[in-house]
Amino acid sequence: MVPPPRPDCIFCDIVRRATPASIVFEDEATLAFLDIRPMTPGHTLVIPKSHAAYLEDLPEGAAGPILETASKIAAALRGSGLRCEAVNLWLANGKAAGQEVFHVHLHVIPRFSGDGFGLRVGPDYGRIADREELDAVAAKIRSGIADH
Ligand code: AMP
Ligand code: ZN
Repeated sequence: MVPPPRPDCIFCDIVRRATPASIVFEDEATLAFLDIRPMTPGHTLVIPKSHAAYLEDLPEGAAGPILETASKIAAALRGSGLRCEAVNLWLANGKAAGQEVFHVHLHVIPRFSGDGFGLRVGPDYGRIADREELDAVAAKIRSGIADH
């Protein structure tokens, strides 16, 4: 069953055209529109039309179309005349990951050298983990997949 739009969700408002957006693409399952606070010109958000707060709330088969649309946008950006030497995809899934709007959205961000964009990491980053440690972590994740 397709969930109804959430009245308190700005992206559901965009889907039902209750709030303005600069739409660049739409198909049955997804909508792509420009981010109101662009990191670089052309910064686009791809959303599922049906409301889901987190990636794991999406019904089976609903995540794939988001990436398909992002791929179309990435190709379009490269041919658009906008400055786009490369593209980053970014998805904040949860508050601690930086999610501010709780309707799943994939950022498609045009990149070019010198754009000032960066990803900050913790002080421990750079260390090559040993295999035992990686295998223990992988086992934990596998058990999570089995439980899902
Ligand atoms: P995130 O931190 O991944 O949840 O990002 C939410 C993004 O939504 C931010 O980049 C905002 O600039 C963007 N945003 C919020 N409201 C709107 C809106 N009405 N139209 C377009 N983009 C929006
Ligand atoms: Zn929504």
